[in-house]
Amino acid sequence: MQLNTLSQSSLQDYVDCARRFQLRYLDRLSYPAIESEPALENEKHQQEGEYFHRLAQQHLIGILSEQTTKLANTANLQRWWENFLNSKDLSGLRELTGLHAEATLSAPLGKFRLLAKYDLIAIENGKATIYDWKTYRKRPRNEWLSARMQTRVYRALLVSAGAHLNNGQPFEPEQIEMIYWFADFPNEPARFAYTSAQYKRDWDLLTKLADEIASASSHPLTDDRQKCAYCPYRSYCERGVRAGAIDQADPQGETEAEELFDVNFEQIGEIEF
Ligand code: SF4
Repeated sequence: MQLNTLSQSSLQDYVDCARRFQLRYLDRLSYPAIESEPALENEKHQQEGEYFHRLAQQHLIGILSEQTTKLANTANLQRWWENFLNSKDLSGLRELTGLHAEATLSAPLGKFRLLAKYDLIAIENGKATIYDWKTYRKRPRNEWLSARMQTRVYRALLVSAGAHLNNGQPFEPEQIEMIYWFADFPNEPARFAYTSAQYKRDWDLLTKLADEIASASSHPLTDDRQKCAYCPYRSYCERGVRAGAIDQADPQGETEAEELFDVNFEQIGEIEF
């Protein structure tokens, strides 16, 4: 099947396992196996995460209704929402005029379009801050976050495709910062500034990956079998039928499992484009 767009999720899959990329984005196979146990609990956590994103968006654009807040009635949602409203790092956001909640940016990348949807881009005094809300059960290490495709794609794409948010002038990388805000660790946000050298490095890597993807004639299985423990395509690869229990995986693997469980906007965007 013809693939027209790339996103941080599809690029992360490609980097993690070319076979997973093929099954998910080229063959468009839906999940044949539950990704991690216990399945119901993970599904609930995922739904709560989606709901939390909706609350945050409605709050930021000033249309949060009492009705929506009332529906935030699980223990997780109540705690996350309280943390959000009480966060010193997020206080004052709503007063900013340059607030772009759930903004979508895209730019050509090789034969593809690179697409990203941002939870929030806040612009103030020539500085652009990318916010991403995370409802992870564990606070990932900064080194792990820094290497994620999301961190690279979101900052690089704002430089390449964000001029309309900056009076027609492309942002300099040095004007950009990305903040992951963790709903369960509200006082431990992860901040990533940006430099021109990092932008060049990121865009070169993204271009190389896009070229590789466009010309790939095979999609080998990853050698890192840890990645298979919670991968939904295990049965296609004969790498186990039962889902791995995520707390048996390595510490960052647990977070990767949570990300895999998310069917996020970008995948929907890729199908619609
Ligand atoms: S089971 Fe392993 S080899 Fe197969 S797609 Fe998933 S990560 Fe890749």
